[in-house]
Amino acid sequence: MASTADDATREEVRRAGLAADGPLPRLLSLLRTAEETHFDAAEAQRLAVESGLAIGRTELAAMLDTMVAHGLLGRVPTTGGAALYDTILRPHSHMLDEATAMMVDLDVSPETLSAIVARAIAEQPGRVEVLLRTRAPEKAPEGPTRRGRPRRIG
Ligand SMILES: [Zn+2]
Repeated sequence: MASTADDATREEVRRAGLAADGPLPRLLSLLRTAEETHFDAAEAQRLAVESGLAIGRTELAAMLDTMVAHGLLGRVPTTGGAALYDTILRPHSHMLDEATAMMVDLDVSPETLSAIVARAIAEQPGRVEVLLRTRAPEKAPEGPTRRGRPRRIG
């Protein structure tokens, strides 16, 4: 079932230099309309299966990495474990509560972010860790690449 949103996603995928005739635009659409904006490959696969999109685990993982490499998906900076993807592309911060495995976006001003970090440290001394990420400068867009080939950044 094609929709206007799917058409827009297909066009966006094309502009990013990727083939838009495969399952990738539909997958991206599914991920962007999901309630949760952060997910790992297993959650993306579950979402795809629930929506009748049959993609193998390896192919799906490659598609996620391809979308990241082409600026269609973000990645949450993590220090280990499964890669965590993000449908919100603009730079923003995250707060992770390990006890509940809850990831919250902190899309706030630098002043508010500083205040949140200072308050968390004050309220939970010795339990707050900060991973400070500095994004690499954006690269110029590249031409089309073969679909399904994962590409590394940097
Ligand atoms: Zn996020």
